[in-house]
Amino acid sequence: MDFNPCMKHKVVRKTVREFAEAELGAIAAELDREARFPREVAGKMGPLNYFGLQIPREYGGAALDSISYAITVEELSRVCPAMGLCITVHNSVGAFPILAFGTQAQKSRYLPELASGERIGAFCLTEANAGSDAGGVETHAVADDAGNYRINGTKIFVTNGGICGLALIFAVTAPDDPKRGASVFIVESEMPGYSVGEIEDLCGMRANPVSSIFLEDCPVTVDHLLGKPGDGLKIGLKTLDTGRIGIAAQGLGIAQGAFEASIRYAKERQQFNRPIASFQTIANYLADMATEIDAARLLLYRACALKDSGKAFGEAAAMAKLYCSAVAVKTADKAVQIHGGYGYSKEYEVERFYRDAKVTEIYEGTSEVQRMVISRAVLNRLV
Ligand SMILES: Cc1cc2nc3c(=O)[nH]c(=O)nc-3n(C[C@H](O)[C@H](O)[C@H](O)COP(=O)(O)OP(=O)(O)OC[C@H]3O[C@@H](n4cnc5c(N)ncnc54)[C@H](O)[C@@H]3O)c2cc1C
Repeated sequence: MDFNPCMKHKVVRKTVREFAEAELGAIAAELDREARFPREVAGKMGPLNYFGLQIPREYGGAALDSISYAITVEELSRVCPAMGLCITVHNSVGAFPILAFGTQAQKSRYLPELASGERIGAFCLTEANAGSDAGGVETHAVADDAGNYRINGTKIFVTNGGICGLALIFAVTAPDDPKRGASVFIVESEMPGYSVGEIEDLCGMRANPVSSIFLEDCPVTVDHLLGKPGDGLKIGLKTLDTGRIGIAAQGLGIAQGAFEASIRYAKERQQFNRPIASFQTIANYLADMATEIDAARLLLYRACALKDSGKAFGEAAAMAKLYCSAVAVKTADKAVQIHGGYGYSKEYEVERFYRDAKVTEIYEGTSEVQRMVISRAVLNRLV
C-alpha cells in the first residue's frame, strides 16, 4: 500500500531515505559500537534543514507539515535510530516550545540558530526523583528583586545532552503551588553554572550523547523565561503531545528497518534445502509484521493530520506513540528470531534495532503513562 499521501510526501521520503542510506547506512553499526555522535553527518544535515523541519521559513526553517516531519524521523530511524532521536528531540521538544510559547524576541533570537543546527536543542524535565511524575521536579529557580533568576538542580537522561547548545530547563518557581509551581527557562550552554555530566552508557541509542546537566547558581535574566511564571506544566504537556508524534515515528522507522532486514534474510537463508521464508511460521511472522507496521503508520499519520488541521491531537498522539513503540519492540524481537543465532550477533543490524527499540516504550512518557492519557480522554468522553 502506498503510504505517501501526496507527491510532496513521496519526495520527502525519497530524499531522506537516500540521505540516510548514503550518510548513515555504512556507519550506523560503528557509531553504536563506539557510542559516537556523528558530528560530520550533523554538519551536512544543517544546510539541508533537518534541524528546522517545522520552523517557519522566516526563521530559516523548512516549514514542513507534520506528516513530512514524521516521514523524516521515520526514514532516519529506519537506518540510524540514534540520529532519528537527535532530530526528533531537537525539533519537537527543543525548538517547538519556543515557537509555540516564546516571545517575538525569543523566536528571533533562538529559532534561526536552532533551524541551522548551530545550536542543538534539549528538553530537560527528568530528575532523579521526577520521572513519570513531573510534579517531583526539585530543580528550583529563585527570582531577585529585578525579576531575574538563579537556577540550581540536576537534570538526568537528557537526550542530546553532550552536544546541545540550548536546553529548556523545567524548574520550580513557586514551591507551594502544585499546579502552577513550575516554569521553563531557555538556558544557553555557555552560561555560567551550566555543565554537562558523563555520557550515559546506554543499552541502545548509543550514538546519542544522553547525559546529565548540572545547574549551579546559573543566572538567567527574565527574558530567558518561556511563557509566564507557572506555565511549566502547560508547556510540558503541550510539548510532549508534539514530542510523541516524533517518538512514534521513530518506533515506526525501527520496525520498518527490522522488517526489511527480515525479508531479505528470510529469502536468502536456506535450511532443509529451502529458503526459510518458505516455512509457514516464518511467513506468518512476516505477515504479522507487515500488518502491524501498516496499522502503526495509519495511527501516526492520523495524529499528524489532526495536528495540522488545528484539531485536538493529544489522545491520537498518545495512541500512536503507544502502538508504534510496541510494534517497534515486537518487530525487532521477531526480526532477531527470524535471523536465529545470527540475529543475536552484532554482525547483523537487527541486534541493534532490538536494543534501540525498547526505549521508545520508555521516554516521552512510558507506555503506562500513554495508557493513562488515553484512558482519561476515553473516560471523559463517555461521562
Ligand atoms: C535514552 C533516554 C533518553 C531520555 N531523554 C530524555 C530527555 O531528553 N528529557 C527528559 O526530560 N527525559 C528524558 N528521558 C527520561 C524519560 O522520559 C524517563 O525515563 C521516563 O519518563 C520514565 O521516568 P523514570 O525513568 O523515572 O521511571 P518511573 O517514573 O520511575 O517509572 C518506573 C515504572 O513505573 C511505572 N509507573 C510510574 N508511574 C505510574 C503510574 N502512575 N501508573 C502506572 N505505572 C506507573 C512506569 O511506567 C515505569 O514502568 C530519557 C530516558 C532515556 C532512557
